[in-house]
Amino acid sequence: MRALPASALVVCGLIASACGGTGTGGAAAGQAAPATSAEQTAAEQTPSEQTPSEQTPAKRTSAKQSPPDAKALEGKVVVIDPGHNGGNYRDPAAVNRKVNVLTKWKPCDTTGTQTNSGYTEAAFSFDVSKRLVKILESRGATVKLTRTSNDGVGPCITQRAAIGNKARADAAISIHGDGAAPANHGFHVIMPKKINGPVDKVVGASSRLGIDVRNAFAKGTGLPYSTYIGRNALDYRNDLGGLNLSTVPKIFIECGNMRNAAEAAKFQDPGFRQKIALALANGLQHYLET
Ligand SMILES: [Zn+2]
Repeated sequence: MRALPASALVVCGLIASACGGTGTGGAAAGQAAPATSAEQTAAEQTPSEQTPSEQTPAKRTSAKQSPPDAKALEGKVVVIDPGHNGGNYRDPAAVNRKVNVLTKWKPCDTTGTQTNSGYTEAAFSFDVSKRLVKILESRGATVKLTRTSNDGVGPCITQRAAIGNKARADAAISIHGDGAAPANHGFHVIMPKKINGPVDKVVGASSRLGIDVRNAFAKGTGLPYSTYIGRNALDYRNDLGGLNLSTVPKIFIECGNMRNAAEAAKFQDPGFRQKIALALANGLQHYLET
């Protein structure tokens, strides 16, 4: 497994999901999460009836410098899992080691996919994740990453789930880009199914999280729903370790198809990655506030 062999793509496809699409960007970064809800400072205790962000964007605010009411996510813990790792190709033995994900045994991780020009899924997911961390922290959340560099190996999918559990995350998200046939495009969200295991108790919450992120992602990136997986960009699976082993609300997002030329071009654009991060933050926030 030197350089992201084709076989890795297949594996990745099975494991993760993608991010993609073609988006045309929708909302400007500034309008991010309407979140300015001051009222929301005590996010946790006030489920608040105020309208969720999407609907009231710019009303009060915005691009100013963080107003006191900008900390809408104070007290919330979010775990972000940037799919794969840039060094995975260097250690096939470690990466291919089989781990138990309750419904099956599968490799500890994979190399992930890449665009035709060589921009890797690991680099993409890590960059989007770092951007997402900044946005969420600016809104008051406590954020943890499952890996903090893109030149290492792992962690295994089992560990990625364990990190979210240990943090007692209010929400967790694993970020990916898919490696499908070039004509396929669009993004999709993957949510857990009941497996008669520990994840069962968060299947409902994960589904709500998935729908909120789906809605915000479509709106914020302009990318279409996947043309090849799921229904309305929603897919439910019981074979992903990162979901099966989670005891906190968790989803995967496949931001699009890195093998699709239009989506690959978008993913390689830092401005578009910022748009993706902002959309994800808005989706997470909507879930965390309601
Ligand atoms: Zn992936």
